[in-house]
Amino acid sequence: MGITIQDMRTRPLRDLRISVTDRCNFRCVYCMPKEVFGRDFAFVPQNRLLTFEEIARLARIFIDHGVRKIRLTGGEPLVRRDLPRLIAMLAAIPGLDDLTLTTNGSLLAKQARALKEAGLRRVTVSLDSLDDAVFMAMNDVDFPVERVLEGIDAAAAAGLTPIKVNMVVKRGLNDGNILDMARHFRGTGHVLRFIEYMDVGTTNGWRLDDVLPAAETVRTINAEFPLEPLDSNYPGEVANRYRYRDGAGEIGLIASVTRPFCGDCTRARLSPEGALYTCLFATVGHDFRALLREGRSDEEIGARVRSLWGKRDDRYSELRSSETIGLPKVEMSYIGG
Ligand code: SF4
Repeated sequence: MGITIQDMRTRPLRDLRISVTDRCNFRCVYCMPKEVFGRDFAFVPQNRLLTFEEIARLARIFIDHGVRKIRLTGGEPLVRRDLPRLIAMLAAIPGLDDLTLTTNGSLLAKQARALKEAGLRRVTVSLDSLDDAVFMAMNDVDFPVERVLEGIDAAAAAGLTPIKVNMVVKRGLNDGNILDMARHFRGTGHVLRFIEYMDVGTTNGWRLDDVLPAAETVRTINAEFPLEPLDSNYPGEVANRYRYRDGAGEIGLIASVTRPFCGDCTRARLSPEGALYTCLFATVGHDFRALLREGRSDEEIGARVRSLWGKRDDRYSELRSSETIGLPKVEMSYIGG
């Protein structure tokens, strides 16, 4: 099914992350700080968003070029109206092995069943603390933890499993909640993943001092719940996996700062406007919406995919330094994590 294309580092194109909106109902301080993304912020207007038909057509062309996994992201993808209709279109494309979605969980309790029925396989839910005061300080819209936990339960009940729960750890903000999170999700079958705070975009005021290295997180948990490392499920998996020795499940560490994983990065990202980014920390996107709306053929668009991926040489996390931090990187809220 389809062809395999490789980049300059012989990394195949396998994963496409599709951001369906740059809007979100949260204002997480490490992604979409309120001071920048305030009431007057110019989000992408409706007529410049890719339509579901355009997204599905592009997805089919990317699947013809080796994509096997699609992750829907945002902003917050569940604020995009009628999302189950898009999911049904994507789920119907032959050759797709995995169709998942990353959400802040705020709207999941209402939508989980419809997402599953439309063909979504599983979900990843972002939850940065179980402490309401800390969580509200991080999402900056006073949204309570309880409602996200209800969303996770609804997703489990709907069969959107296995569920992954992502916690972005920022030193001095929620690093004191690591053990609470581990205690809460142990034995649930959900995989809790700890993400090192990253210098995504240009707006979150990132400092290396605010990064809690993954090794410290492992030490903290291992002291109470002995852990042992696990092999990756597949090449290019972003998380370093560990299992609890007592069989209570597993956790993951996503350590872009202290353990870069660019070597087998197989991910491309599509913005809500149809711009392709070949790295989370890219400074330039490549316009595919114009190709679609100019009436280019699948073959012409496919050729563009091949030429862009073939020239790809990204490895930002390996090159991260005081010089790179100030680069005009694309915002994570625009292309998804
Ligand atoms: S920094 Fe870029 S190249 Fe490296 S793993 Fe992340 S997205 Fe891939």
